[in-house]
Amino acid sequence: MAASGHIELRSVTKRFDQTLAVDDISLTIPHGSYCCLLGPSGCGKTTILRMIAGHETPTAGDIRIGGESVVGLPPVRRGTAMMFQNYALFPHLTVLDNVAFNLKVRGVGKAERHRRAREVLAQVQLDQFADRMPAQLSGGQQQRVALSRALITEPRVLLLDEPLSALDEFLRLQMRGELRRIQRELGITFVHVTHTQLEAIAVADAVVVMEEGRIEQAASAHEIYTLPATAYVARFMGGQNVLAGTVIAVNGGAVTLVDGTGARFATPVTSTAPAKGQEIFCCIRRDRIKVEKLRAPLSSVGEATNVLAGTVHAIEYQGSYVKVTIDVPGREQFVGNLPDHAFLTAPLDIGDAVVARWATEDVHLLTGDSTRTATGVRPLPLEAQRDGVRSR
Ligand code: ATP
Repeated sequence: MAASGHIELRSVTKRFDQTLAVDDISLTIPHGSYCCLLGPSGCGKTTILRMIAGHETPTAGDIRIGGESVVGLPPVRRGTAMMFQNYALFPHLTVLDNVAFNLKVRGVGKAERHRRAREVLAQVQLDQFADRMPAQLSGGQQQRVALSRALITEPRVLLLDEPLSALDEFLRLQMRGELRRIQRELGITFVHVTHTQLEAIAVADAVVVMEEGRIEQAASAHEIYTLPATAYVARFMGGQNVLAGTVIAVNGGAVTLVDGTGARFATPVTSTAPAKGQEIFCCIRRDRIKVEKLRAPLSSVGEATNVLAGTVHAIEYQGSYVKVTIDVPGREQFVGNLPDHAFLTAPLDIGDAVVARWATEDVHLLTGDSTRTATGVRPLPLEAQRDGVRSR
C-alpha cells in the first residue's frame, strides 16, 4: 500500500482570505488512473493540485494518498512529483544534470544519478540530448526534460499543471499522446490540470469538471461528453444544445416539456421521472440534428415535437462536418453539425428559413443544476461513482 497512488480527498476546503477556492470537495482517484481536472480559470483546479503536492494546506478536510493522510507532510515525503507549465529548468545545467537534480538533493552519488537520469531520458527519447543546455532545445524537448526530471524520483503520483499550454497545436497533440503512453507504461497515477475540454477527454480515464470550487461531474471522458450531468457541463463541454422547459406530460419512458416559446420537446427518462409542472433541462447532441429548408409556412411546424424553426445564422466547414448555427426566435442559438455529404446533397445558405429536427431517443435529461438555475440553490452533491473516479 505504501507505494500506492490511490488519492482520496475528503471534504476538502481551501480558503484564501475572502476567496473560497475549493468548497468541500470529496473525490477518489484510483491508483494507476489518468485523471484530468477541467474547468474555467479560477475554478480551483490548481489549488487542488497544489494541496495534493503539499504546496498548500487545506483549510479543512483530509487528503490521503495510499490510504494515509498526507496533510502536514512536506512535498518530498508524499511520493508525488509535479510538472509545471513553464518547465522551470535550470538554464546553467545540462539536460542530464537538470534531470538528475532531484536525486542530487536526495544525496544520491553522481554515477548513480547520471545512470538513472539517462534511463528516464531514454523513456522520452531524449537520451541523445543529455549534454545539451536547455536553451539549445525546442519547446517540446524542454517539456520532455521537465517530465523526466519529475519522473526520476519514481513518484507514485505525477501532478501536471497545464503541462501542454506552452506548446503549439502540433506539439500539443503529439505530447498528449506521449503523456498517455508514459502513464500507461509506468502505471502510476497522473493528475492533470487543464482548461481545454478536448485535451481532457483525449488523455484521461476520468474527467472531473469543476466550477467555482466545486465538482459538477466526475466520470469517464466518454460519459462527460455524451451524458453530461448538468446544463453547466453540457454547455462547458460543447457539442450539445441545451433545452429547458416545463413538464406537461409523463408517459412511460418519456416526458414532454414545453418552453417559453411554446416549442415542445420530448426526452427519455431512465430513472426517476420528473413530475408534471417541474422545470427541467435536457440536451441534444449537435451531430444528431437534421436541418432542412423550410418548405411549408412556419406556422405548420407549430405543435410538432422536437422541431425548431429558425433562420441560418452561420455556416462553418469543419472538415468532416458542417456546423450550421440557427437563430430561433425567443431562445438561444441552436447548432446542428451536419455530415459533409448530407450538407453537400442539400446545401443551405445564410438567411435560409430552416427546420431542425431530432429523435427523442437522442435527447438526454440533465439533472443537478436545473435546481440551481430555477431557485438559486446549489444542486445536491453528485453521486458520480463511475469508471473508478468518485466524487460528491
Ligand atoms: P487557472 O486556470 O486560472 O490557473 P484555477 O482553476 O487553477 O485557475 P486556482 O488557481 O485554483 O484556479 O484559484 C482558485 C481561486 O483561488 C481563484 O479565485 C484565485 O484567485 C484564488 N487563489 C489561488 N491562489 C491564491 C493565493 N495564494 N492567495 C489568494 N487567492 C488565491
